[in-house]
Amino acid sequence: MAVLSAYGYISKSDFSNILLIGELSLEGEVRPVSGVLPMVYGALSQGISYCILSSENQEEASVVSEMNVIGVKKLREVIDLLEEDMLDNHVYRGQHNGESVWETGADFKEVLGQETARRAAEVAAAGMHNLLLIGPPGSGKSMIAGRMSGILPTMTFEEQMEISQIYSVAGLLSGETPLVRRRPFRSPHHTATQRALIGGGTYPRPGEISLASGGVLFLDELPEFERNTLEVLRQPLEDGWVNVSRLRGSCRYPAHTLLMAAMNPCRCGWYPDRSKCSCTPGQVRRYLGRISRPLLDRIDICTETMPLEYRHLEWKEGDRRCEPESSDIIRRRVEQAQKLQFARYRNESFCHNSDLTPHKIREYCVMSAQAAEYLKDIFQKMEFSARAYHKILKVGRTIADLAGSETIGQEHIAEAVFYRSIDRRYWGEGGAS
Ligand SMILES: [Zn+2]
Repeated sequence: MAVLSAYGYISKSDFSNILLIGELSLEGEVRPVSGVLPMVYGALSQGISYCILSSENQEEASVVSEMNVIGVKKLREVIDLLEEDMLDNHVYRGQHNGESVWETGADFKEVLGQETARRAAEVAAAGMHNLLLIGPPGSGKSMIAGRMSGILPTMTFEEQMEISQIYSVAGLLSGETPLVRRRPFRSPHHTATQRALIGGGTYPRPGEISLASGGVLFLDELPEFERNTLEVLRQPLEDGWVNVSRLRGSCRYPAHTLLMAAMNPCRCGWYPDRSKCSCTPGQVRRYLGRISRPLLDRIDICTETMPLEYRHLEWKEGDRRCEPESSDIIRRRVEQAQKLQFARYRNESFCHNSDLTPHKIREYCVMSAQAAEYLKDIFQKMEFSARAYHKILKVGRTIADLAGSETIGQEHIAEAVFYRSIDRRYWGEGGAS
């Protein structure tokens, strides 16, 4: 357009109020590109009010409702629109309404039994704590993980915009889904490369950890991942963002996600059930040792799934006894607990209990005298590390929030210690390196 204007083929010479996006083909077609959403968003903040781009990108661009979006197929159309001063007559208004949606198919009420793991999932969601599920094959680990993003709070429009921009850069938005409206659930296979997990490439694309921002990153069969591959997740998990470097400079993507991992306790899957597990103690140790201590340190809650019992299979719809709760009911409790956290941390740069640093733990995790006495006792008996102590307090804070209690009571600490004791049973205190 600049060239056409310079040669006098069009009369317009001031384009300062118009953003033009697209790939121009030799036939003069305007083709769609990735990353439209953040470009349009950025242009709006610079005071630009018109955006002309490929009609295949118009739905995505129109998510930024204050922008006047005009979709075209050919460069010729752009010339005509400008010469006839017809931009305002061709503004596209999108179909989306910014309402949040979630999976209708997968619901927690289909998870029979597993009271302990269900509760751990709820606590993890309430405080955005990373969670590890250990259990034999077929005990429902993936089933629970697949329902996790459905119990996280509803997304605000601002969150939808933020996450959609990452998807836009990754080229994952389309005309049908111009906006990410449900919390992400990403489940990369254990053969995934480092680049696939944290991002990279000549034009650095966001990795799985960024695509899971605001939602869940699920690593099934955790010990099957290459150890080096997992190690690259440590820093992003700690910081909440990831630096993807390329030849010239680097690029920063958000990585604020709930990490959920699942694993069998040994290669055959049945340890510590000695009637079924035939692994030697050395084999079990080596299998568990595939998970490094620093990665385990990033996981606040560890819990077990149990093989299904017959009584759970007997349960029928409508039977009120031990009826599993639906995702909807659990999500309401999670939302309530997160509201308390947002209010408590309104002057902080973080908003969830899992983000508490040791310094902030002292400030915000106030225990009752009884709870403090109890923890002191347990701490000495079990010889917990300082890191374990901090995890217990953070998780205890979340359990108290779920109960609507400002002070952390003994029962809240006891439950947090329980999650810690499972981790300890498999890996010991500070064991594997
Ligand atoms: Zn085994």
